[in-house]
Parts: sequence; structure tokens; C-alpha cells
Amino acid sequence: MNTVLSINNVVKYYGPIQALKGVSFDVPEGCVFGILGPNGSGKTTMLGILLDVLKPNAGNFAWFNQKDGAEQRKQIGSLLETPNFYHYLSGYNNLKITQSISGRGNEDGIHEALEKVKLTNRKNSKFSTYSLGMKQRLGIAAALLGNPKVLVLDEPTNGLDPVGIAEIRELMVELKNQGHTIIMASHLLDEVEKVCTHVAILKTGTLLTSGAVAEVLMDEDIVELSASDLNILAAILTQFGKDISIDKKQNTVTLLLPKGSAKLEDINAHCFNKGITLNHLILKKKRLEAKFFELTNN
Ligand code: ATP
Repeated sequence: MNTVLSINNVVKYYGPIQALKGVSFDVPEGCVFGILGPNGSGKTTMLGILLDVLKPNAGNFAWFNQKDGAEQRKQIGSLLETPNFYHYLSGYNNLKITQSISGRGNEDGIHEALEKVKLTNRKNSKFSTYSLGMKQRLGIAAALLGNPKVLVLDEPTNGLDPVGIAEIRELMVELKNQGHTIIMASHLLDEVEKVCTHVAILKTGTLLTSGAVAEVLMDEDIVELSASDLNILAAILTQFGKDISIDKKQNTVTLLLPKGSAKLEDINAHCFNKGITLNHLILKKKRLEAKFFELTNN
């Protein structure tokens, strides 16, 4: 897979505050890449640096494996904050103004962008009549002018209602399927789990981990079991692994095993041979949430 962006040891200070402490990660082509972290972890600072709005104090980054150049910049569309569209103009006319100021794309591109964000049937309505979700989608349409390879979005679902959030998330997956690479900041684990294929987790300016969500997420198999006697069940499971815990409230025993090693049939047969009949046996994947809290000690 080609690399769209390589970030190498980026450091950023605001006076005495160190917002980024030497962050490095790569973004593969065609992914939805989430930069995840709590408030103040440095996500917006990182996006600002990548878009040349801010200068790093040290480190560097390269888009499309090349030294900085205006041509590469044309391949990057961005939405850092809700753009100042004119309320009394239609969505279409607003995009026309954006297009003529930015010089990105052409007339066809405006229609294409409106189509991608599903605003074609409302293109002639005044911006002031749009829902918050539609306003955000128009912002994404503006970022899509010129059909850039990469979209950089800062907290794209912030402030939206559940329907608006679902629409934007669906849109991001569709844009990825159409070949765009999306880099987005988010503080919502749930969002990253639902939308992103890759993630970098930041905490107070330090990169905790990065990689494919499936890998970051699933570092362990969690087998959850239940039987009438939990203590005996826990005792006979020791042959599979040592990390066993009993949850009396949930009436379950949990067995942690290395990723991909849990074989439910074997565990079931073993219990049966030892005279224990299971009434519950399930393989769960460790959720990003658990991993995130573990990483951030939160
Ligand atoms: P949020 O989700 O709250 O926007 P974030 O993860 O995007 O957080 P940043 O906004 O990049 O984080 O902030 C990282 C750190 O840098 C924070 O400690 C913040 O207070 C600080 N910071 C950000 N911008 C400035 C600035 N212009 N001047 C001084 N400090 C700043």
C-alpha cells in the first residue's frame, strides 16, 4: 500500500506548552485515518501543521513521498472549522464563490461535490435553511472541490444530532470507497471504531500507538464463559491460560488469550470432559475503548 503522508518526529511548542512531543506515524493510501485523543492532546495542532497553518519547531512530514510543493497541496482538501458560508446564498452559489476564490476545480466539480455529499436536491436552497448536518456536508463539498486525493477533517461530527452524525459517518465511508484518503481528528472512540480503518492515539502530545484499527484493537482474545459453578470452571480453565477472572455480578468467567489463539471448540470439549456443562461461551474482541483507557491510564 502506498503512503500518502509520512510524519517524522514532529514537535510543536506554544511558548512553554509543548503540544506535540516528537510524533511520527504514516498514513496509508485509501484509508480513513483517525487521529484520536482527549481534549488538548494535540490533534488540531497536528492537522494545522500538516496543512501549513502552523510551523513545527522540529521534525518534518511529507505528503505523497515528496518534498513540499504546490502541486501536492492541490491534492489535499480540508475542513478545519465550519466555513463562513453566506446565509442568504444557496449551497450551490456558496460553492461557486469558494471555487472561484480557491481556484480549485470547475463548474462540473461543483456538481460532482454536491452529488457526493448528497446535496444536489437542495443545491438551490438558501444556506440558512440547511440543517447543521447539511451545513457540515456543504463544508465537506467545499473541501472536495478539485477532487483532491486526501481530505483532512477536524472533528467532522462535532455538534451534530444523531442523524447528522450518522450521515457524516456514512459519507466518510462512501468517500473512502470512492478512492479518497480521509484523515480526521476525533475525540470519540466510538466514531473511530465505526468509521476508521487506521488510528493514531495521542495523549498530551505523545503518540501512544498507531496502526490498523483491527490490530490496535484486537491484541487479545477475550473468552467469556459461564457454568453453574464458576470457581470450578475457573480452576479447570488454567490449562488454557493464566489470565482468568471471575465476575460474580455478571455470573461469568473471563479468560484472556493471545490474539487469534482462542479455540472455542477445544475449550468447550475440555470443560465437557471435566464434567462441566457450559451455559455460555463467547469470544469477544477487546474494544478500542478498553485499549484506549489502558493506554491513557484513564
Ligand atoms: P481539542 O479537542 O480540545 O481541540 P486537541 O487534541 O485538538 O484538543 P490542541 O488544540 O492541538 O489539542 O491543543 C494541544 C495543546 O496545545 C493544549 O494544551 C492546548 O491548550 C495548547 N494550545 C493549542 N493552541 C494553542 C495556542 N494558540 N496557544 C497556546 N496554547 C495552545
